Amino acid sequence: MNGAKSSTVTGTTATVKRGRFAPSPTGRLHLGSLYAAVGSYLDARLQGGEWWVRIENIDRAREVAGAADDILRTLEAYGLHWDGPVLYQHTRSDAYRAALETLAQQGLAYRCDCERRDYAAATVGGEIRYPGRCRTRDLNPSRPHAWRLRTDGSDPIAIHDRLQPPLTQDVAAEVGDFVLWRKDGFPAYQLAVVIDDAAQGMTDIVRGLDLYDNTPRQRLLQSLLALPTPTTLHLPLLMDVRDEKLAKSKAAVPIEAAEAPATLYQILTLLGLDPPPELTHAAPTVQLAWAVDQWRVERLPRAPSLRLR
Ligand code: GLU
Repeated sequence: MNGAKSSTVTGTTATVKRGRFAPSPTGRLHLGSLYAAVGSYLDARLQGGEWWVRIENIDRAREVAGAADDILRTLEAYGLHWDGPVLYQHTRSDAYRAALETLAQQGLAYRCDCERRDYAAATVGGEIRYPGRCRTRDLNPSRPHAWRLRTDGSDPIAIHDRLQPPLTQDVAAEVGDFVLWRKDGFPAYQLAVVIDDAAQGMTDIVRGLDLYDNTPRQRLLQSLLALPTPTTLHLPLLMDVRDEKLAKSKAAVPIEAAEAPATLYQILTLLGLDPPPELTHAAPTVQLAWAVDQWRVERLPRAPSLRLR
């Protein structure tokens, strides 16, 4: 995998802008995930950048057979054509393992065999926070264990999102030593996402607001591993009529390729664009070509969530 491509423009070096859509293949795409896909696509394309797709299937137990192919077919039906090869996270274990070893060698990662019930009493704001019990335990490596990051000593991290209000998080106090590698043998999302965004040269991340409070953990890992920090833009979450997050809701019916024009039209509207009525039945590629010129961060809804009727 190459890092960000550089090109020389009139003597100055310009980095290619690159965004991505990184679905977990735990089911078919629904309106909420397509919303993030279209947002990241338009943002990359308006900047003359590339848009890549990464299938986040590190958790093989949660992967639904056929879901990744189905997601890719749906993206194509919606005119969301990607650049570069599709990266599958299940092929990337060596890269994640190497990053873990780098952190462990610096004394920043440690083995942990605690069960949740061992520390369930340690909560911050209602969230269970791991108190660092195994930091100094020097566990026998042959016993099943997770790996955690030492967060003590890290400074509070301020995130300046392109859309959301700034977020400052003291990862050590508010989250604690988070898991880098799970006891069940899978790398954790936080580690994998940071390694892949860097390896793929991602410069601009657009995704759902549910991941905003994960960003400080990812920033911390980027700084410990001396990786570049992409900008972020966290889109509002789509909610159903009962105010449930669409991803979790039973109403998150998969989107159908046959309904692409009407669904895409709805998504463009939810992105704060004002597509002309004649686009309602236009092919997805025609709608996207119109939308690329219209996309502006200032036009995006500021509300944290949007309720669908
Ligand atoms: N795979 C994650 C999800 O489907 C998205 C990860 C990301 O965009 O950073 O929720």
